[in-house]
Amino acid sequence: MNEALKDTKSYCKKCILPESYPGISFNEEGICNYCLKYKPHHEILGGDKLLEVLTSQPKTGQYHCVVPVSGGKDSAYILYYIVKKLGLKPLAVTYDSGFQHEISIENARNACRILNVPLIEVKSSVNIRSKMLKESLLVSKKVGYFWHQCGNCEAILRNMSINTAKTYGAPFIVWGSSALESGDDQTYDSYKNLGGAQDNILFKIKRKILFLLKNPEKISTIPRIIYSYVGYHSIKYYFYSIYQRLALGFPYRFAFRPHAIIPFENKTARFVHFFDYVDWNSIKNIELLKNELNWKHPVGQDARWDCKIHCLGNYAYLKMYTISGDGINACNFIRENKVNRESAMEKEIDLSKSVEHKCEELIRGIGLKNYTLGFFKKILRP
Ligand SMILES: [Zn+2]
Repeated sequence: MNEALKDTKSYCKKCILPESYPGISFNEEGICNYCLKYKPHHEILGGDKLLEVLTSQPKTGQYHCVVPVSGGKDSAYILYYIVKKLGLKPLAVTYDSGFQHEISIENARNACRILNVPLIEVKSSVNIRSKMLKESLLVSKKVGYFWHQCGNCEAILRNMSINTAKTYGAPFIVWGSSALESGDDQTYDSYKNLGGAQDNILFKIKRKILFLLKNPEKISTIPRIIYSYVGYHSIKYYFYSIYQRLALGFPYRFAFRPHAIIPFENKTARFVHFFDYVDWNSIKNIELLKNELNWKHPVGQDARWDCKIHCLGNYAYLKMYTISGDGINACNFIRENKVNRESAMEKEIDLSKSVEHKCEELIRGIGLKNYTLGFFKKILRP
């Protein structure tokens, strides 16, 4: 481990949150308040139960379920599990935002070809996605925090999955995002219901007002908050986002709310969370994916490489919260005894060394000249 970094900061003894993390405190044993209040993940229901659920509804088409695949190891494993272990017939969908790593698209295609699963590919116009990223970065610079570079893909993937299930008469959508990767303060249940209150603009405004009342020193941020809703670059971003959502066939009530994520409703097809049934640890077996599905990953990286924009979130979190977004997620995995603290710490240190360079490359790639990343301020939520 990097000794210099280890010496200058002190960390929670259980997870890898640093002492500089907003709102953190430690007990006598050096365990942080986030670890102490952590509620463990639900119990794993098992593969037999998953099979029982997925065969419990009559299918009107030929597929038991729709599986969204990104080409990362989680979704490749889910597809493998459904075909090889449960013996079911899924239909796969994948979305390329234009910032998808080439290897991940290849992985999705290989897995589907080998498992004999049809794959529906949807691609956003790279042009529109680059414009959205450009505008969101310009808003970020103005407001001083990370403004909506991400999140869009999940919304699109949910929408595509629902539309595909409807079109092909599949009664289930097997969803693979891990709730453990949903951030520092979201519980598993709130993640599953995401798209409800959290995307409601009145709810957001109410939350902001309550936050400002509790933290009066932050009142000076009001002009920046207003800009994030009605500033020049924000409005341009909204325009592109609405255009993209209409082009991709979003229901109108979500098309005109650029950051809204479609909730997991069970009207057309039921969402099934794979990780309710199968333990995430089982995916550790990357060799199986390599041998069976010809699955690949970039040299030196086996997780979270499939999206080229991902580095921006990590960088912003590092600047604002003094730990990367991946690092915060890793804390949940450590608390669940799924990841070892030492290896998570090493990954975090490696990431903190390489992330700025990655971001700069990306920003140059979309043609933002003279754009520097030095504007992030250490802030408190929201
Ligand atoms: Zn901790």
